[in-house]
Parts: sequence; structure tokens; C-alpha cells
Amino acid sequence: MGGRLGIKIDVDTLAGLSKGVPALLKMLGERGIKASFYVSLGPDNSGRAVFRVFRQQGFLEKMLRTRAPSVYGFPTMLYGTLLPAPMIGAAAPGVLPSLAAAGHEVGLHGYDHVRWHDRLLFMTREEVDQEIKQAQATFADIMGAPATSFAAPGWQASETSRAALAAAGFLYASDTRGTQPFFPRFGAQVSPLLEIPTTLPTLDELLGLSDCSVEDFFALILSRLENGTPQVLTIHAELEGGPFQEAFARFLDLCLARGVTFFRLADWAAQLLEQQKNIPTALVFQGRLPGRAGTVSRQGVPEEQT
Ligand SMILES: [Zn+2]
Repeated sequence: MGGRLGIKIDVDTLAGLSKGVPALLKMLGERGIKASFYVSLGPDNSGRAVFRVFRQQGFLEKMLRTRAPSVYGFPTMLYGTLLPAPMIGAAAPGVLPSLAAAGHEVGLHGYDHVRWHDRLLFMTREEVDQEIKQAQATFADIMGAPATSFAAPGWQASETSRAALAAAGFLYASDTRGTQPFFPRFGAQVSPLLEIPTTLPTLDELLGLSDCSVEDFFALILSRLENGTPQVLTIHAELEGGPFQEAFARFLDLCLARGVTFFRLADWAAQLLEQQKNIPTALVFQGRLPGRAGTVSRQGVPEEQT
């Protein structure tokens, strides 16, 4: 059967980093799977970030039915609202080196997740630079060198953010939803920074749709791997590393039984950049996705490079 899958793990919160990530590390390690982790290192405003996920239509109801709210716990829900926001980076020194030691990729998922998600499209270059600088300073303190990959919070990308990421020296970014790797175009301006988009829907999106169960979701993902085209699945440390652990572990076992192979996005990026002229450009636009509130940055139709 085969199929190729890159697992992209977004870590948005302190609970995700301190509980979800170790659970995923163990699960992946037991199966010999290497994945790509992207971590927010700034303030944990999960009181606001998490409510956004819960607000996805129908998601809260399914979470309650699957005994899910226990992952976040009551205090987490209040961070950045009634309680001050703790810094996620404070828990990172104990976690990030263990990811790298196990052979996983570790990149950045922004600094202040909520600010990037809500404000990016209105931010100045200086403000975007500041988010990246703060995240990189914390990352380099812990890892001894800056991160080489970046995944935008909430799939929010702009001409400004791409210029800032390119100038900051990242190898590639994974900021958008799309179908295949590309160089993003904003109007006439093409970003020189390779983009590897998330190509598959996410659990929280599809669970919000009325007829979809957790099992249906993973069955759909498996069917999307069948044609052999490399796919990128975004999961959340707070969900697949939390209440949906068992379902995700079953999914990984099914993948392995079917001969699916796993890749880290950084390795794919390095491989693609060896043949840079074969990478298409594509317009990036803000668009809606089924089951998700608000808009995300999406890949338009791929165009051959001239
Ligand atoms: Zn996120």
C-alpha cells in the first residue's frame, strides 16, 4: 500500500508542552517514527487560544462526549484571561532537548500564539521581527543554536511575515494549508522561503462536522495516503497528545501495518531545495476551511516557475 506522511506537531500551550509532548514522544518512540515538532515559546494565553478550538462548531460537544476537557484542566482555561499568562518557554529546557535527542525535528510555532493568530495581518515588519527574535532567543538559549524551521500559529502568513522569516534565515516554513511545497506569491512578490503546507484536514476541524467520529477522521486520513503523494498532517500536542492519544496510537499502528513511511519536514525541505527550479510558485490567499472558524492562509493553484 505505502504512502508517505509528515507528522507536524503544533504545541500551543504549557500543558501541551509539559504533558502532551512527552506522551507523543513515547508513542512515536515505541513505533520508531520520526516527526516534526513546532513549539510556541512565549506567554501561554490558552484561556483565549483554547477557547478558539472549543468554539469550532460542534467540537465542544464531541470533546465532552469523548471525556476530553480533562486535558486542559481549569487553570489552563484561565491563563491570559483571569490568571496571568505563564511563559511556555519555562517548561521547554526539560522537553526540547529530549525531542532532538530522539531524532525529531524541533522548530518554532511563533512566540505569542494568540497575538500572531489574531494580529499578524495587521502587524508591521518591526512587530513581526520582534515575535521571531524573542522566540529565537529562547530557543537558542535552550538548544544552543537558533531554529531552522517555523510553523505559523493559526496558519496565518503575510507578505510581511514571509519577508521577516526569510531574513531571519529559516530553511523553510510551514505556514499555510495547501497541496504541495511551493514558493508563496503575494501579488507580484514571490517569497524566497520554501513553504511546505499542511495538506490534510485536522481532527478539531472534522470532529466539528456533524457525522464525523474520531475513527472516521483517521480512516479519511488513511485513505488520503493511498495515492502515494507525500502528505502533511498537523496534530496538536493538546489533543492527539491528550484525550485523543489512544485513537492516534491506533492510527499510527494502522499506518505502519499498511507500509506508510514517515518523514521529517526538514529532511523533505532539504531534498526539495536541491532541485529548487522544480518547485512551483503559488498565490497565497486568506480563505475558509470546512469546520474551522475564521480564515487561514491557503495555497492557490501552483504555477510553474519562469
Ligand atoms: Zn497552534
